Amino acid sequence: MLLIHCPYCQEDRPELEFQHAGEAHIVRPSDIASIDDAAFEQMFFLRENPKGLAYERWRHIHGCGRFFNAVRDTVSDRFLTTYKAGEPRPDAAALAGKTPPGKKGAAK
Ligand SMILES: [Zn+2]
Repeated sequence: MLLIHCPYCQEDRPELEFQHAGEAHIVRPSDIASIDDAAFEQMFFLRENPKGLAYERWRHIHGCGRFFNAVRDTVSDRFLTTYKAGEPRPDAAALAGKTPPGKKGAAK
């Protein structure tokens, strides 16, 4: 079973406790009525959906209930890191060789 590290609970928990919540770091305009249709389409509908490293929002729905962000490899389904909502986007390329959070012997 896949274990996901919740950055709020500070524990690795089974994937069944979590819910995927889309792409992370989507910037929503403060005045949505002022943007044109193309900008609205880009913000609301279009997502990166990369093959490889992706920034995603997740929710610990059957735990603390909080949203957090993760860097996940969409090919291997391996979580490279998880971090609290509002924290800056980590450098995914630098994390590529790192041991996932909560595992012993994490690379520095
Ligand atoms: Zn949690």
